[in-house]
Amino acid sequence: MVRGFNVRMTSFCPAFQKSLVIEPNKTVSVCCSDITRMLDTKLNDVDSLKDFFYNSEKYKEVRHASETVALKDFAPCVACHRSENGFWSEMDTFKTWRFPNNDPSEVSLKYFEVTTSNICKQSCVMCSPLYSSTHAKLAGKLGSISFMNDEDLKKVFEILPDITHLNLKGGEPFADQNNLKILNELYRVNNKMIEITIISNGNDISDKFKKCLSQFDPNVFDISFSLDGLGKLYEWQRGSPFDKSYDTINTFYEETRIPYSIQNTVTVYTWPTLLETYKEYCESFLGLRRVNSSNIVWDPSCMSPGLYPQNYIDEVVEKIMEFDDKYEGVYHVKSGLDKIKTERKPKVLKAYHNKTNKWNKIRKIKIEDVVPELSMI
Ligand code: SF4
Repeated sequence: MVRGFNVRMTSFCPAFQKSLVIEPNKTVSVCCSDITRMLDTKLNDVDSLKDFFYNSEKYKEVRHASETVALKDFAPCVACHRSENGFWSEMDTFKTWRFPNNDPSEVSLKYFEVTTSNICKQSCVMCSPLYSSTHAKLAGKLGSISFMNDEDLKKVFEILPDITHLNLKGGEPFADQNNLKILNELYRVNNKMIEITIISNGNDISDKFKKCLSQFDPNVFDISFSLDGLGKLYEWQRGSPFDKSYDTINTFYEETRIPYSIQNTVTVYTWPTLLETYKEYCESFLGLRRVNSSNIVWDPSCMSPGLYPQNYIDEVVEKIMEFDDKYEGVYHVKSGLDKIKTERKPKVLKAYHNKTNKWNKIRKIKIEDVVPELSMI
């Protein structure tokens, strides 16, 4: 209730009543799209995550603030403002997938997202040291590799019995044994999970992880492998061979029978071959449930597909819109692509050339030879 009015105000997003997120540097957030990290708290600052979620003044203030303004006026949620222009946002995932019947008056921690470390063998060109230890090494920041200790894990274990949705992110979740501990503990203390999301690069999944996952009902999983493009394009954008991930993912499905989706990151580099990439994925990956293209790179803007001239953007979109989603389960493959508008500011174009040259040297691949359409930029 808002004082002085006999009306109940409700938040524009269920995350404020349901969600807690721990990011790679142990920042506590409302969600992964929380741009200003509005809770302004680190894991080390709290003794109990449960207590923080329900009783802390900080979370209460943020929750209350979200009840008094509209989404468009709430600055920390700027990434979700795009939802009002037809793009898929994290808020849409909360509203339509995770909590479609949300009762806004019920504050109950049900969604927990955790990044136990930034350990990752890949160095995707659109990523950063915060999310990848290989990036950190390339940037000469060996000391910035983040890792959860036993104290941190204890705080995580405290909330596992009550949640219904767990999301493991990285780094690469399958590269950190702490995630194995979390999953085994979850299996031990919670038999009412609705969804376990794991966002992986599909590079390497050990037998221990496969055995652990096989204990659960396969239907509880929403495993998403991030793959961008094919062959050399993949290798350039992500920094590891495509065939390794291809073999790992197909073996994973053969051994666990857990279906999964592929998240294809839409960048200036993957844009020209999006359609053939979708088709190839659908034809060659076993157990693929859906291909998703909602991850359109806006930031850094120097890697955005908006760098192409509008007529070329329209040409690609037209072909994709004609694409017949005949493969079972291929879903929202087209989300937001038709809303991309050209944006070719000189400063951003210069940054594009600098970044591209830098990664050409690191990868020892000249991406312009792989993606000739880049000559339009
Ligand atoms: S509107 Fe978006 S940024 Fe804001 S809390 Fe919801 S999911 Fe997070």
